[in-house]
Amino acid sequence: MGKFVYSFKEGSKEMKNLLGGKGANLAEMTKIGLPVPPGFTITTDACNTYYKKDKKIWDELLDEIMTNLSELEKTLDKKLGDNENPLLLSVRSGAVISMPGMMDTILNLGLNDTAVQALSKKTNNERFAYDSYRRFIQMFSDVVMGIQKYKFERILDDIKESKGYKYDTELTVDDLKNIVVEFKNIYKKELRQEFPSDPKEQLLLAVKAVFDSWNNPRADIYRKLNDIPHKLGTAVNIQSMVFGNMGQTSGTGVAFTRNPSTGENVLFGEYLVDAQGEDVVAGIRTPQPIASLKEIMPDIYKQFEDTTRILEDHYKDMQDIEFTIENENLYILQTRNGKRTAKAAINIAVDMVSEKLIDKKQAIMRIDAKQLDQLLHPNFEEKALKQATLISKGLPASPGAASGKVYFNASDVVAANENGEKAILVRLETSPEDIEGMVSSEGILTARGGMTSHAAVVARGMGKCCVAGCSDIKVSESKKELRVKDLVIKEGEYISLDGSTGSVYTGNITKNEVELVGKFEEFMDWVDEVRVLKVRTNADTPNDAKTAVKFGAEGIGLCRTEHMFFEEDRIPVVRKMILSKTVDERQEALEKLLPMQRKDFSEIFEAMEGRDTTIRLLDPPLHEFLPKKEEDIKNLADDMNISYEDILKRIEDLEEFNPMLGHRGCRLAVTYPEIYIMQARAIMEGAIEAKNNGVDVSPEIMIPLIGDVNELKYIKEFVVNVVEDVLKESKVDMKYMVGTMIEVPRAALTADEIAKEAEFFSFGTNDLTQMTYGFSRDDANKFLVEYESKEIFEKDPFQTLDKNGVGKLVKMASKLGRETREDIKLGICGEHGGEPASVEFCHNIGLNYVSCSPYRVPIARLAAAQAAL
Ligand code: ADP
Ligand code: MG
Ligand code: MG
Repeated sequence: MGKFVYSFKEGSKEMKNLLGGKGANLAEMTKIGLPVPPGFTITTDACNTYYKKDKKIWDELLDEIMTNLSELEKTLDKKLGDNENPLLLSVRSGAVISMPGMMDTILNLGLNDTAVQALSKKTNNERFAYDSYRRFIQMFSDVVMGIQKYKFERILDDIKESKGYKYDTELTVDDLKNIVVEFKNIYKKELRQEFPSDPKEQLLLAVKAVFDSWNNPRADIYRKLNDIPHKLGTAVNIQSMVFGNMGQTSGTGVAFTRNPSTGENVLFGEYLVDAQGEDVVAGIRTPQPIASLKEIMPDIYKQFEDTTRILEDHYKDMQDIEFTIENENLYILQTRNGKRTAKAAINIAVDMVSEKLIDKKQAIMRIDAKQLDQLLHPNFEEKALKQATLISKGLPASPGAASGKVYFNASDVVAANENGEKAILVRLETSPEDIEGMVSSEGILTARGGMTSHAAVVARGMGKCCVAGCSDIKVSESKKELRVKDLVIKEGEYISLDGSTGSVYTGNITKNEVELVGKFEEFMDWVDEVRVLKVRTNADTPNDAKTAVKFGAEGIGLCRTEHMFFEEDRIPVVRKMILSKTVDERQEALEKLLPMQRKDFSEIFEAMEGRDTTIRLLDPPLHEFLPKKEEDIKNLADDMNISYEDILKRIEDLEEFNPMLGHRGCRLAVTYPEIYIMQARAIMEGAIEAKNNGVDVSPEIMIPLIGDVNELKYIKEFVVNVVEDVLKESKVDMKYMVGTMIEVPRAALTADEIAKEAEFFSFGTNDLTQMTYGFSRDDANKFLVEYESKEIFEKDPFQTLDKNGVGKLVKMASKLGRETREDIKLGICGEHGGEPASVEFCHNIGLNYVSCSPYRVPIARLAAAQAAL
């Protein structure tokens, strides 16, 4: 049978899958000689086996744990539960991928009524011993036995209030002894049994609790949000305790080797004197900035700073380090690659290349393409900001700008979000239960907590704007209001947050577009050097096109013309065109649309400055354009000089049971060729106009929804005729292409035939996914959620390309297309074009380009580069 327990001396950072992130790094730090309190790790394998064995700790595992415990006792010359020199332990979970705050740690394990006295005698510090004991009882009761924390905190608060204390550190030995008694009473009252005094029993219960916590709802949500597989399991680290709560020469803290918001290369962190464990992040007292440690313990500061350098050089990445000082002795309790904002990630990667810590390829691979999204978020408009009322300032915990209506608990935020409102989550401080609310919010505001508080860490990871520790704001979660001095803001009122400055404003402030400069540009240049796949954008307006070009788009992969039809001054003409009874009538309306479309196209061509531009001819079912309100219908009837009944009849005629599979795309052009004829003319005339303005244009005209080569043949003939006519009329020589979307499965199956007529394919993977699965895009969300929760699907196929099915069609059609037409241009223009895993697939099957919304262009560029490495 296997080995389920490893001493820190046996492991290394490469053993993350087995030892979890924390365990592997504790072992690695032990190996390179850093001061890590000794201990051992129970493997993730053991966790999975535990679940297979109906959540029981089996004999073999028990033996291994006990053997390692004896070793540890020997090393430290202490014994668990000893009444002279007791060993105290921390029991720490450690998943393979770090899950901050998700799993619970138990400290000071091994204490009971006799051991606490021994500890007190041995350390000559009775206060410390009882402080540790009350902490242990609370943590054990909460984490292992599930007794609610507030029951303990209430007692602490009562004592503090009656004695007039502000901080826990003011509690006297007698206070602490009383607290211990009261805490044990709570335990007894809640569970109808005594607090377990046998340290081995405590240990095994704690180990089980860590295993069990792998499946708690908070951990579950975090894994879903971050695509972490459920089957990984968690390791358990059992480590000897060191104590930051031994008085003024002790303390505990966390630090990042570089600034996790900006990337600046300076030590960044906080610590608290005379404190233990989570005190720093829990916001009990306000932590001190790490720099001030230099003044109060210069030697320790120096040693710590040196250690952070060693760790960064060793891991070649920014580290997030937890440390404790026990009587002026430094211990390192954890290191991991630090979470950071996208801005910091880019800055750090670029800096580390110039520091020669990593090379460009490593830098490229290090940035999470999805995270780039953060950088592309807007900030407040300067002018609007000047007029805004600043009401308070907190810590700039996670950058970005956010405006929304305030809500005071996570579920209200989720509900508001579902109603289409933008919401700001306001809390005293956040906890893992708030995760869903944080996800649904525009931004987060907390009254308590520092730069490493739960709200700050989680928001940075999500790329959400967050202002934390805004201490002059009084939050009443029960009254659902916040107060700053005399000002009261109630649920549903607007505020705005600037996560880069910590400022809080009233009202809804206008935001700016993003500027991507400096190290971002340098980084993206490296990305473009290694990228093979081209990245285009989906853009329907000159504005979108310009934004996309700014973000590095190399062309337009999809310009949807229907959006142009919806414009207010055009829709009456469009409606007339659709409801015309005769071709002449329709022609008349189309003639009015022609100059409008011509202008649309010339502007888009000009915005693209000669980059390839694919324009799709009209695609949606015509009734989408028709009026629904009685009043609008009446007006239209008047306008068209026909009766209300007559027009109702025509509208009814256009109704379809299944419009997405109905009269749309190329099928429209089979019935009404004049629509595409007008559009083809507008495209060419627009192109000529742009050319006359000095832009080098060669339009790509795209026919949607082809399923049979004969459809394309029929349509292409009249489209090409118009194009040639326009060119002849204006005596211009211009290259152009006619191609098709591949979005009907039959088109993919017969791509070799279709390629005879099509000069390019653009895979419309939204429709192709819809039609391959037979899932309606408009309705599938209702049940796909269950597919994901029941793990029938790992991912929503409308978001991540289904490689095995839809992807197979794309791959096959590409191959067939190239067999017929060697130089056929191949691209993808569905939502998938900006999704990193799908981009990788497109690279692997050798498409020429992906096309995605403007804001995702940088993401696609990076994903394409990563796919090429
Ligand atoms: P998390 O994964 O939530 O960060 P940890 O296992 O790192 O949980 O524990 C949280 C905190 O508990 C640590 O930052 C540290 O302050 C404290 N802690 C953990 N183990 C020990 C130990 N052996 N001695 C002293 N403090 C510890
Ligand atoms: Mg930790
Ligand atoms: Mg389509």
